[in-house]
Amino acid sequence: MSLALARTKIVATLGPASSTREVIARLMDAGADVFRLNFSHGDLETHGRTLAVIRELAAERSEPIAVLGDLCGPKIRLTELVGDSALLAAGAAVALTRGPGPSAAERLRVSYDRIVEDVQVGQRVFIDDGLVRLVVRERRQDELICEVVVGGVVRSRKGVNLPDSRLSTPALTEKDRVDATWAVRSGLDYLALSFVRQPDDLYELKRLLKSLGSSLPVVVKIEKTEALDHLSELLDHAGGVMVARGDLGVETDVWRVPLIQKEIVQRCRRQGVPVIVATQMLQSMMDNPMPTRAEVSDVANAVLDQADAVMLSGETAAGRYPVEAVEMMSHVVSAAAEYLDKQPRHSRRDDLPYYFRTPAALAHAAARAALDLSVRLVAVWSATGTTVRLVARHRLPMPVVGLTHDERTWRRMNLLYGVVPVRTEPTENPAELISRVDSILMRSGLVVEGDQIVVVGSTAPLSPGETNVVLVHRVEA
Ligand code: PGA
Ligand code: MN
Repeated sequence: MSLALARTKIVATLGPASSTREVIARLMDAGADVFRLNFSHGDLETHGRTLAVIRELAAERSEPIAVLGDLCGPKIRLTELVGDSALLAAGAAVALTRGPGPSAAERLRVSYDRIVEDVQVGQRVFIDDGLVRLVVRERRQDELICEVVVGGVVRSRKGVNLPDSRLSTPALTEKDRVDATWAVRSGLDYLALSFVRQPDDLYELKRLLKSLGSSLPVVVKIEKTEALDHLSELLDHAGGVMVARGDLGVETDVWRVPLIQKEIVQRCRRQGVPVIVATQMLQSMMDNPMPTRAEVSDVANAVLDQADAVMLSGETAAGRYPVEAVEMMSHVVSAAAEYLDKQPRHSRRDDLPYYFRTPAALAHAAARAALDLSVRLVAVWSATGTTVRLVARHRLPMPVVGLTHDERTWRRMNLLYGVVPVRTEPTENPAELISRVDSILMRSGLVVEGDQIVVVGSTAPLSPGETNVVLVHRVEA
């Protein structure tokens, strides 16, 4: 695959359709950069085995494959249904309650034990991505009496959304705490948090991570409308953002989802926060070897919006064509990138938190010089990856090579737009640093002698936050 064109990264969710060594290897060959372990399904033992396979394959190939763990958060589900499914007829009355026990057509139980307290009369209850819809007519001691507005068949353990209700549940469930602790101990590279409503939800997870001695970047999943009201503060503290269109499309009017996606991607780009567009991107490939035209168009549009990454969920986790789905996504990403290269570019104003000012200014200078001179690539030395993120946010047409001595940073950079992560030993000597860059880039085939490049680095490359050099340079053997 052409390095220069594969700039939008691909996140593939692993599951029963993709847990063997053979399939994971083929997903890597097809272009997966990041794997998602979804804690909503499977147990930790299974995830541990999958993780070991990923790490082994990545090591064999020396590839910076990143692993993202995804915490379920307070996802609400129906309990098991008697007979596994039930028909809810439009107009029928159904009681909604909590607690252990099975559900049935006239009495549904959910996994959320504050449902009776949190949901008011007149509010809506959506089952299975809104395919079946209820409205609450009456509140009793221990149950809600609902009317079925849109009828249909419901099945065991289907998701329940309460788009009108203010939920009092904590953002982190007990299970999330166990899973997050496992993620830290297992050395995952990113951790996503579902159903974030407010900054406190994010801070709560960050506190837990800190108590475990971890600074794992937290990917905030935007899938509740409340999160949109706090977007600025969330972006200031997020290690990444996921536009989680599945639940978002249930929690808000589905026709608003593309516009929310554009807004979030743009704001993340401006701030240099990695952003992933997720869910149903090639949904029909769950069952078919070819996607619909509309799906292909959706992936291409996310690339044209210049998100850092596009994500596959059920397509790779549980579909019939996991490898074909990643291959298809790679084709769409490359073709859209080629188109993007022909478009005129505008430079953007900086809009960053004050603590990024110096590296952001240097990144801006590097991006400007790279464009004006049409250099072959930009090489960035970075201990933590921050400066690399700040260069990547300019969405350059040439590769951004992220050089680091830190293994975790090396893998994390694989989520970032246009970034080719390279691992190397650091040096405190500036002249040595430049000749080191030249030899690494030539060895990797990214440049040839005489190519002009821009180098961003530091005269103290071992200390984070010390970026202070932008250099225009011709590669020497
Ligand atoms: P999920 O999150 O796949 O964990 O539900 C993504 C989404 O809701 O879009
Ligand atoms: Mn979701």
